[in-house]
Amino acid sequence: MKNTRPVTSFAPHEIRRFITPLTIVTIVILGGVVATALLEKPKGNSLLAVFGGLGIVYILTGHTLIVRSTFRAGTYRLMNSLLTGLGLGILTLLLPDAMIEVLYLLTVFSAVVMATISGRSYAYLILLLLATISLPVKLPLLRALDPLVGYSTPFLISIVVVEVIVRIKDTTQENIHRLETINNFSRQIMQTLDTETTLSLLKTTIQEALEADTYFIGILRDDVIQLELFYDEGEYFTGMQVPLEGTLSGWVIKNQKELFLPDMREEVGLEGVESYIIGKEKASLAWVGVPLKAENVTGILALASYTANAFDRADLQLLASLGQHVTLALDNSIRHAQVEKQAQLDSLTGVFNHGYFLKRLAEQAEEALQSKTPLSLIMLDIDYFKQYNDTYGHLVGDRILTSLCTAVQRNIKQTDAVGRWGGEEFVISLPGASGGQAYQIARRIGETMRSLRVEDRDRRTVPIPTVSQGIAVYPSEANEIYRLIDVADKRLYVAKGRGRNQIEPGKEFWQE
Ligand code: GH3
Ligand code: MG
Ligand code: MG
Repeated sequence: MKNTRPVTSFAPHEIRRFITPLTIVTIVILGGVVATALLEKPKGNSLLAVFGGLGIVYILTGHTLIVRSTFRAGTYRLMNSLLTGLGLGILTLLLPDAMIEVLYLLTVFSAVVMATISGRSYAYLILLLLATISLPVKLPLLRALDPLVGYSTPFLISIVVVEVIVRIKDTTQENIHRLETINNFSRQIMQTLDTETTLSLLKTTIQEALEADTYFIGILRDDVIQLELFYDEGEYFTGMQVPLEGTLSGWVIKNQKELFLPDMREEVGLEGVESYIIGKEKASLAWVGVPLKAENVTGILALASYTANAFDRADLQLLASLGQHVTLALDNSIRHAQVEKQAQLDSLTGVFNHGYFLKRLAEQAEEALQSKTPLSLIMLDIDYFKQYNDTYGHLVGDRILTSLCTAVQRNIKQTDAVGRWGGEEFVISLPGASGGQAYQIARRIGETMRSLRVEDRDRRTVPIPTVSQGIAVYPSEANEIYRLIDVADKRLYVAKGRGRNQIEPGKEFWQE
């Protein structure tokens, strides 16, 4: 996959800053040409003087107007090159042979300025025009080596300088583009707390900014590197894993060091690392990996290519920068999820709090209606708990509450929900369970409770309090969740009234 990278052009004042020394020297030289032409004996060379003067005016005008955007448009660039080439060509014919070095300097300067302002082709256009005009005149002279070398010198120097300038410009513009990429990426990634969006932004950025056949982000989970995003030659692979032992990725994670392998045909030479192929059955020839490390994230971001030397150090730096931002973003989304989860839970027992349980119950009721299945609700309350606290202390009371929740959780399914309704009162929702099934679960919760062992501060085993439970079934006994809770609560008090340590099931139970 090849990308066309957007080119960031330089601001006009940057270009002007760069060419100002050349402008000044050129004007001084042309000034010298004018002066020499005027002072020529026996009478001044007025044609050369006028021509030199026009040159000075042209350069000053161009230099002043270069900051105007119209002056950098395509037509101006072409006109500028044509005029400069033409001017230099005519100057060749006008200048006495004694001043040939002046022409050398002006040729090189013009090529440099044009390469800077307009680009490579405009610089070469000048040289071409100059040669077209001057070569036919000079040709008879160039038979001998000496004048031939003299004639071609400014052209050769110009070509070298133009090529250097174009390369420096390209590198600088590429660096600016990299910075822009990182900036955009970090700005966008800061606005999201969602892992999917973060990975999708990473994907787009890598595709835009780096030329890799393969890239992936791996997160360490239980000694295995889980690939969250894995792209190989136009294909996305999901659910891939890489072992931590014996792989390049593993090496990067374990050593927390960047790894830059420009050409893997050479011996990699990392202890305990063997080649490991993921994705397409093809060995990568260039590989770059950076470690990702934050409180909740340990992993790797890597690029690979089937072409050797596809990456340079600048790519490694860009990857490291992207890696840092992605790590922070992933860490933030994990923290955010943790905080959100915490806000749903009761801090003592770890079951849902009142508010979140109601939200879950509403969702479960909706699903029950759609799937036309029952939803049973158990309301549970510890018997004589006030007295229990008074006898054994609040600390032991708290332990009982935690143990009760463990007992409940041991008897329900993943899809069921437990909430602390308040104090020592709990609610349990059982999607899909009939009144009879709910009764069995309630019974088992009571049994598990009785089998618990709880110790006091002096490690003495304390007796376990009993519980009373009331059951109601949605939608048959109540077609609205608050009514459902109300019915279960009433039945709980019926159970209490019957002497506690009881379960009061729904009407359905007696029919079943
Ligand atoms: P009943 O059998 O009628 O339910 O009697 P009870 O004493 O359990 O009922 P009541 O509602 O009068 O008392 C609830 C007690 O639960 C009051 C309080 O001491 C205790 N309790 C509530 N929340 C907590 C808690 O977080 N920790 C502890 N240790 N006790 C709590
Ligand atoms: Mg109670
Ligand atoms: Mg109570």
